[in-house]
Amino acid sequence: MSDVRNVIIIGSGPAGYTAALYTARASLNPLVFEGAVTAGGALMNTTDVENFPGFRDGIMGPDLMDNMRAQAERFGAELVPDDVVAVDLAGEIKTVTDTAGTVHRAKAVIVTTGSQHRKLGLPNEDTLSGRGVSWCATCDGFFFKDQDIAVVGGGDTAMEEATFLSRFAKSVTIVHRRDSLRASKAMQERAFADPKIKFAWDSEVSEIHGEQKLTGLTLRNTKTCETSELSVTGLFIAVGHDPRTELFKGQLELDEEGYLRVDAPSTRTNLTGVFGAGDVVDHTYRQAITAAGTGCSAALDAERFLAALA
Ligand code: FAD
Repeated sequence: MSDVRNVIIIGSGPAGYTAALYTARASLNPLVFEGAVTAGGALMNTTDVENFPGFRDGIMGPDLMDNMRAQAERFGAELVPDDVVAVDLAGEIKTVTDTAGTVHRAKAVIVTTGSQHRKLGLPNEDTLSGRGVSWCATCDGFFFKDQDIAVVGGGDTAMEEATFLSRFAKSVTIVHRRDSLRASKAMQERAFADPKIKFAWDSEVSEIHGEQKLTGLTLRNTKTCETSELSVTGLFIAVGHDPRTELFKGQLELDEEGYLRVDAPSTRTNLTGVFGAGDVVDHTYRQAITAAGTGCSAALDAERFLAALA
């Protein structure tokens, strides 16, 4: 059993690095799979983060993640910039396979694989992320005071983002590909009653313009194919998220939207010794601080679980 680790952490966003920090400081010698392409998680794709406590003047997303990574490493977390491609989590000893086919064994596993925001799939969308294009009104709304902005989507999230953004913005145009909304009646009514919110019905974004910053959009009418220009400095994309749970299907219990189910307020999954934290569990708050918070909870849950085994 000498090659059996105490704990393996899958994922390296705020949840994964916080779980790594806590388990490392508890002398559990965690092995962390950070992901091959996106080590550091979602905040590697943004610029200023102004709402993570402790940084009075804000901090750039990649700098925040570098700090979290270095802090976990300082206490002995072993960090591997690789993907996990297979898991077997049911037994007492769990196995995790990396891209080279090496099988790693552990008594506990913490899953922090996050969720992927859906994109429009347009050129410029990624390059202007954090420069006018955003997936999070709570995170970025404040940057758009007195500006004209657009929100894409027709569900509850899009309406919630639009009504939240109208507090700051000069105007909010909701771009929706149909002529009616999917959102609940209450959310629709709030949006219709808001004098700053306008609707571009039967419309989709066909081009995103700007070099250093977003300057405008081309909209295409989904019925007539006619195009029009919309001058905006902010674009909030609210067309959904996909939790990264593919790897765990058939082993860990998922909810109807595919998120990992945990026995809240604990981070325990349906399998003993397996814990879940961050956006792979949470489709309500989706913030760096909440991900870090549940990453801490998962580490403490794993620590107690391992202590009980001893
Ligand atoms: P993530 O940060 O998504 O990290 C998950 C990690 O798991 C990734 O590194 C991924 O590579 C890894 N992974 C996935 N599958 C595997 C696998 N099979 N093997 C190994 N690794 C794997 N929140 C704020 O509080 N403030 C902000 O200003 C803010 N701005 C944002 C800007 C943008 C553009 C985006 C997209 C999000 C923003 N958020 C912000 C939200 C915040 O980034 C997320 O809530 C947070 O990162 C979630 O943390 P997490 O650890 O759960 O997952």
